Amino acid sequence: MPGNVRRMPTPLTAETIVTAPKVLLHDHLDGGLRPATLIDLADEVGYRDLPSTNVPDLARWFSESAYSGSLERYLETFTHTTAVMQTRESLVRVASECVQDLAADGVVYAEIRFAPELHTERNLPLTEVVQAVLDGVAAGTRAAIQAGHPIRARILLTAMRHAARSREIAELCIAFRDQEVAGFDIAGAEAGFPPTRHLDAFEYLRRENAHFTIHAGEAFGLPSIWEALQWCGADRLGHGVRIVDDIKVDRDGTAELGLLAAYVRDKRIPLEMAPTSNVQTGAASSIADHPIGLLTALKFRVTVNTDNRLMSGCSMTSEMTALSEAFGYGWDTLQWYTINAMKSAFLPFAERLTIIDNVIKPGYDRLRG
Ligand SMILES: [Zn+2]
Repeated sequence: MPGNVRRMPTPLTAETIVTAPKVLLHDHLDGGLRPATLIDLADEVGYRDLPSTNVPDLARWFSESAYSGSLERYLETFTHTTAVMQTRESLVRVASECVQDLAADGVVYAEIRFAPELHTERNLPLTEVVQAVLDGVAAGTRAAIQAGHPIRARILLTAMRHAARSREIAELCIAFRDQEVAGFDIAGAEAGFPPTRHLDAFEYLRRENAHFTIHAGEAFGLPSIWEALQWCGADRLGHGVRIVDDIKVDRDGTAELGLLAAYVRDKRIPLEMAPTSNVQTGAASSIADHPIGLLTALKFRVTVNTDNRLMSGCSMTSEMTALSEAFGYGWDTLQWYTINAMKSAFLPFAERLTIIDNVIKPGYDRLRG
């Protein structure tokens, strides 16, 4: 090939991005059901309140409800999904399909989160809820490997921030730490429920040398992020979008970081960003206006996530495709997000390195051609 001919970069389409190795740290089990499974399970357990029993209509209903612009209303959609996830069989099935769907989307490492306390309506003990999801994850992992899509999947146990069971859920994390329970999280409406309400759980986890992330700075501002980091000691931030409120960009494009934003960047605190979900909840007006663009340019430890695949009608591939379209990102940036996420995973260091060196880097090298 003549030396002066520059090969055009391969355009990043969903068809190529799906083949890239991806890492997902923030995905809710009850936000990622297949619509067909939701309909099946509702039928099995006699749940009659689904808005539709037609697959495309139901999928559309979830997406439309999620675009209401309010986090509180967005959270209401979970009433339907959790209603059918109250038996061991349904939890095993949903977890198994979740892992298989992620693997088929090119995800090579995933941390899937769910709140055990939302799955006890039929008196399933918390320990059996966790074991069912672990068994489903193991079954899904085996099926994915057989289908030619190897994946490592772990789970995070979430406590609801408006409830009072966080210490109990934190103890459950420790009880199951020798299986694939990677860590802890708190989720739910932020306003009025600061993370410091759950300080007891976080202090316990720190004494146990355990890992946790906190949903913070999604709908609510800097105080929530500050409490999550400086009072609770979170390893990662779920979303953390509002950290941009502590960054001033001058007319010449120079960014001035406030003390908290500087701390987050200096300490390489991972931000579990989910652009489509944030647009739906009103935390950003569009993907192109999403703070992920600025935070990526400023080299914060940004990671890309799905949050709720059913409600957002998204996948890791669609999120990365949307980012590539909005900001012109190529393989280097997508690899950077992926390595950021892998470095931030709640997985032992040596195992993280193995995935980075043996799977992620060779995968992107191959795509760059
Ligand atoms: Zn979330």
